[in-house]
Amino acid sequence: MTTTIALVTGANKGIGLATARQLGARGMTVLVGARDAARGQQAERELRAGGADARSVPLDVTDEKSVAAVAELVEREYGHLDVLVNNAGIIRADGSALPSETTLSTLREVYETNVFGVVAVTNALLPLLRRAPAARIVNVSSEVGSIAVMTDPEGALFALTSIPYPSSKTALNMVTAMYAKELRETSIKVNAANPGYCATDLNHHSGFRTAEEGAEVSVHLATLAPDAPSGLLWGYQMDAGGGYGVLPW
Ligand code: NAP
Repeated sequence: MTTTIALVTGANKGIGLATARQLGARGMTVLVGARDAARGQQAERELRAGGADARSVPLDVTDEKSVAAVAELVEREYGHLDVLVNNAGIIRADGSALPSETTLSTLREVYETNVFGVVAVTNALLPLLRRAPAARIVNVSSEVGSIAVMTDPEGALFALTSIPYPSSKTALNMVTAMYAKELRETSIKVNAANPGYCATDLNHHSGFRTAEEGAEVSVHLATLAPDAPSGLLWGYQMDAGGGYGVLPW
């Protein structure tokens, strides 16, 4: 039987680490993408101690050479890839996070990781994903990327005004929809995940959900059945009172 291979970017901590743990618990071989080798190895040890078949791979999604090296490693050692979770992400803001205070350097920095990094990693690995019987691509997005959610005056997020992180996730949503369209005649499904507000380093642990709960969303989308939809933003629905479902763009 062929081993199911999953790659999770930014998997050394937070939601990515929890996603790697949960995919490993389902019997997948999990490649733990980490831009810092020592942090990746620490995560690998932790996952292995929990029984997962985990292997850390150096991967900075903003570094073309690093992305190419991971694709070469997967090709050489496994010959295909079943699951790609584009999880690595950063949040930055200038001043009081108002549009009028936003600098282009901050905007570029966030887009490099949250948008360009996803396209770079996906394109490098797509030939290997096409070789799997039914590959799944999960782009970890956010409800703050939903224009409908962010502009609803009655919604919980209406007070947020920041451009860099929310608009990078809006771009990621469109990236997701366009890959799903390109791949609609194949067995590959591409969806965006909304983990919900999870306590991680990203938000100084202010989230009300756990990283493990956030990871459930990515794992659900990474293990979708053949008749499941592609090209959706799916996950935690804060404005609908919790629970999981499709979110509006
Ligand atoms: P986190 O704990 O800060 O983890 C982020 C991960 O991404 C870390 O492993 C980090 O590595 C990695 N990373 C950052 N830049 C990278 C790069 N250039 N190349 C490779 N890896 C990189 O944050 P998190 O909350 O788990 O976030 C995971 C994903 O969930 C992100 O896409 C985030 O936008 C999304 N999300 C989070 C929440 C939430 O409430 N937490 C809500 C919605 C969506 P280092 O350790 O080296 O920094």
